[in-house]
Amino acid sequence: MARTLPTLLPADLELRLLRKSVSVLDKARDRCADCGRTPLTGELVHHYGAHAVVCELCRPMRRREPDRTAKVPHCEHGHTVKVRRAA
Ligand SMILES: [Zn+2]
Repeated sequence: MARTLPTLLPADLELRLLRKSVSVLDKARDRCADCGRTPLTGELVHHYGAHAVVCELCRPMRRREPDRTAKVPHCEHGHTVKVRRAA
């Protein structure tokens, strides 16, 4: 007697691929150490130590001055083509 194998419908495959890609993108995001929010492009974020990033909204709740402050770059930052002129 032949066993029937579970089949993967195209809609199931699409859903699995979507969930996988979203989880990969989610892991690469910086999050605020206090509220968990992802800072927006152009927003100032404050770095405390090597790994703690705090958003602009949570910054007033910390007493210590940040080690450094930086603007969140656009997602294409570093991936665009730049024209270089020969010297
Ligand atoms: Zn925050």
